[in-house]
Amino acid sequence: MERTLVLLKPDCVQRRLAGRIIGRFEEKGLNLIALKLMRVTPELAKRHYAEHVQKGWYPELEGFITASPIVALVVEGPEAIRVVREMVGATNGLKAAPGTIRGDFGTSQQMNLVHASDGPEAAKREIEIFFTPAELCEYAPTLRQWMHGG
Ligand code: ADP
Ligand code: MG
Repeated sequence: MERTLVLLKPDCVQRRLAGRIIGRFEEKGLNLIALKLMRVTPELAKRHYAEHVQKGWYPELEGFITASPIVALVVEGPEAIRVVREMVGATNGLKAAPGTIRGDFGTSQQMNLVHASDGPEAAKREIEIFFTPAELCEYAPTLRQWMHGG
């Protein structure tokens, strides 16, 4: 079992796509174990995007991610980190494959609707940035026996 952080970015919430995109993770059989609507502060943006803070386009990214509320969620499942990254698709919506979230709904490099952790270290670090341990609501999904056979 793995856990990964997903952010539904301001464009996703503003475009009223949050429900449909959460639905895609549910349909895939992933377990939602944490979820909240929140506003990202500049400080939080710098922590989350630490690897990009020095880039020329970072101020624009910070302006975007802090402009309007996001939905943060933690999803859990077998190989969830890779599975969710593949469901999200390539960074630029114009290049992301059809069938991926960015490929189906996105047309921008920056306003690409969704963030997903890119590996186990990032997932751990990012979940800790957005959620306290008490906010992670673990439970045993009753569907498991029908979804993970073989
Ligand atoms: P990903 O989210 O696919 O892992 P990156 O880690 O490369 O992509 O970039 C983080 C986020 O920064 C992207 O999801 C996108 O919102 C934004 N971004 C990436 N490249 C640019 C750029 N050239 N200009 C503005 N924003 C960008
Ligand atoms: Mg990245």
